[in-house]
Amino acid sequence: MQVTGQSLIGSQAVLSTGKPIQALNPATGAFIEPAFRGCGAEELDRACALAAAAATAFRNTPLQVRANFLETVATEIEALGHALIERCMLESGLPRARLEGERARTCGQLRLFASVVRTGEWLDVRIEPALPERQPLPRSDLRLQNIAIGPVAVFGASNFPLAFSVAGGDTASAFAAGCPVVVKAHAAHPGTSELVGRAIQTAVSKCGLPEGVFSLLFGTGNELGLALVSDSRIKAVGFTGSRSGGMALMKAAQARPQPIPVYAEMSSINPVFLLPDALQQRGAALAEGFVASLAMGAGQFCTNPGLVVGVRGTALDTFLHAVAQAVSGVGAQTMLSPGIHAAYNDGSGALAGHARVRPVGQGAAAEGPCQCQARVFVTAASDFLEDEVLQREVFGATSLVVECEDWAEVERVAQSLEGQLTATLLMDESDLEKAAQLLPVLEEKAGRLLVNNWPTGVEVCHAMVHGGPFPATSDARTTSVGTAAIQRFLRPVCYQNLPQALLPEALRDGNPSGVSRLVGGTRMVPASA
Ligand code: NAP
Repeated sequence: MQVTGQSLIGSQAVLSTGKPIQALNPATGAFIEPAFRGCGAEELDRACALAAAAATAFRNTPLQVRANFLETVATEIEALGHALIERCMLESGLPRARLEGERARTCGQLRLFASVVRTGEWLDVRIEPALPERQPLPRSDLRLQNIAIGPVAVFGASNFPLAFSVAGGDTASAFAAGCPVVVKAHAAHPGTSELVGRAIQTAVSKCGLPEGVFSLLFGTGNELGLALVSDSRIKAVGFTGSRSGGMALMKAAQARPQPIPVYAEMSSINPVFLLPDALQQRGAALAEGFVASLAMGAGQFCTNPGLVVGVRGTALDTFLHAVAQAVSGVGAQTMLSPGIHAAYNDGSGALAGHARVRPVGQGAAAEGPCQCQARVFVTAASDFLEDEVLQREVFGATSLVVECEDWAEVERVAQSLEGQLTATLLMDESDLEKAAQLLPVLEEKAGRLLVNNWPTGVEVCHAMVHGGPFPATSDARTTSVGTAAIQRFLRPVCYQNLPQALLPEALRDGNPSGVSRLVGGTRMVPASA
């Protein structure tokens, strides 16, 4: 399949006429043909109108049909073959193996959501039968189920051009919930976006769904994104990117006459705590694991370990020495885009130039354009606690080690942290007491707590939480990875005293949908489930 530079609006492919968008090969700086054009108000209006027109029919599709659609999207993405991987390598600078793995994750999560849709558990059906004889007042028949929230705007993320972009986690979870999706493509990988968008378009058509279930728009300079979030037909937003971008979209969503939820995943430094006995016993091994996690993918993971906290002493010195050695062996890696590269150099440079921060070690210097030099710095906890600038995310392979005077200061550092996606404890069994002290603090700070694992590497499964208090995300009650992500795009509706013929199928007597239901407070699981 050829990349044409067209936007996809319902079943149509349209050559837009707005601002030019041209993909850049970050490894060489060369432009990649063809040029794309930003969408204007007319295209946005058409995509939103189609999405709104498709919303009722799509949310009422039988579970089997919607599950089949998700699986067809996965099959169509796989059918793109090498062309998709090659285009994505050119646009992102990411290596083949990483992108093949990411494609497998993308298709795997679409199929996982299909299996979730089929179970119907996410409907959360609750039935309270009528109590006509109840005194002093009778009770009506009450039945609850979740329904799709309506059309969702999805912002493709730059750092997962497949797994968190056009057909990524936000789109998969919105489709699973029964929501049409309008994607605003990330300008760093427009060709990849078009190819995946065409795969979705084909799946919509093959499954006989209304064309407005999916549209893909291109734009830069914030205008299109803000207009999309402000459109009254959009009912929720999924976003992964910068803190400033997420905040701008949240403000736009709140300023609407009818405000809507924005599920933005923004910035996190993913603190790692070195517990004393583990540090003493295996500091050098921990250092190697830390540097491997830090340097993976040029550090361009939202779960990158950007902060390490330990108690000053010879064990921490040994750890730092081993970190310096390990990081010196890290080669320069191409980053995703000139913008991300420039932001990395600014953030890393700010740490290098900070009066209270010392270098620990660094990797090979950049040779090509957009290359990231891995760097580790150290600062005293008292300085860290005084200067909130030191808590800022540096997106890339840079991390800061915080030296505490004693364990009480480690706890103060933990207390001072902003919201995080992850918090990690590196511990031995003999560290259990200190870990137990820290855990309640970290539960308040992060969406995922790890022991003796590294935070990079997010499993797509039923038990994953990729979320956390602000600024990690805009809404700590949810996750953007894993099947629980479907909850973001649902809302509960209670049907009071409705005749059987008007009730949604899953709420009818006899349970024709065969879903698990809470009836009068008792969980009723169909025999086939
Ligand atoms: P970004 O600048 O936030 O852009 C992401 C998307 O949001 C783009 O489609 C962009 O559209 C839109 N956008 C950004 N600011 C906007 C605004 N003020 N109003 C309306 N739309 C806006 O993210 P990025 O390009 O991927 O990377 C930039 C920085 O974000 C990185 O250096 C890194 O610090 C951070 N980042 C963090 C994560 C994470 O997971 N924590 C992931 C990726 C990036 P336009 O093209 O129209 O601006």
